[in-house]
Amino acid sequence: MSAVLNSDKGNQYQQYTPSFADYWDDLVGWESRLAREGAFYNRLLNAHGARDVLDIATGTGVNAVSLARAGFRVTAADGSENMIAKAQENAKAYGVTFADTHVVDWLALDETLGTESYDAVVCLGNSFTHLFDHEDRRDALRAIRRVLRPGGMLIMDQRNYDSMLDEGYSSKHEFCYTGDGVDVGPVELTRTLAKFQYVFADGATFQLNMYPLRQDYLTHLLEDAGFANVERYGDLRRPYDRGNVDFVQQVAFRPL
Ligand code: SAM
Repeated sequence: MSAVLNSDKGNQYQQYTPSFADYWDDLVGWESRLAREGAFYNRLLNAHGARDVLDIATGTGVNAVSLARAGFRVTAADGSENMIAKAQENAKAYGVTFADTHVVDWLALDETLGTESYDAVVCLGNSFTHLFDHEDRRDALRAIRRVLRPGGMLIMDQRNYDSMLDEGYSSKHEFCYTGDGVDVGPVELTRTLAKFQYVFADGATFQLNMYPLRQDYLTHLLEDAGFANVERYGDLRRPYDRGNVDFVQQVAFRPL
């Protein structure tokens, strides 16, 4: 099976068809990924005293399920109905329940979920890269800020596009997408488009269009949307070598 999903750069969550939602689970490599990153996110959220956590890019649920297993009250949201359906299946299989689930676009988060409702928002697994418009990114971050309680925390995780754009793609394949037998890499890489291809062991091939978000640009966007005290981690560690990590995590706060 082969599909080039969503060649236009519009609503990127429409790229996640039911069949891709199924394959995504293989790509994610749940157990190995959670062994590595689960404790990191739990620790960050616990250190901040978070209880009500909103995952706005739930996907098939890897982070939402892990956070629910760790005892957080998790609201699972995603723009894709297919991904949310898969996440609910996975939550059931892992014996956890979400406090709530929503199919919602980031731009409508506060309209749908209300303002000042969560202690923390997570947007993990290279998700924010799906927005192609500067204004959409700014408006989405403002909506995220509004759903957070004052003092609330946002955690975002992106591929290290700086090193990809400046030095070319290379990945240790240790972080984030660690599923067995999945070959992942960009087939097109420009300042404004990273087209990633995922080839699965059975030959199924999918492509996703992403916007290559540079680290400093995302920090600037966060501050511009009213977030403060932005902290960055590289491959879950701090300090880090900007040119030598696969993923960058940015943590930001809604001022009190
Ligand atoms: N966090 C999960 C993980 O790491 O496996 C999912 C990551 S997946 C790369 C990105 C998710 O973001 C998809 O499920 C997609 O539907 C969702 N998404 C992309 N753009 C969105 C938008 N504008 N509003 C809501 N969800 C969106």
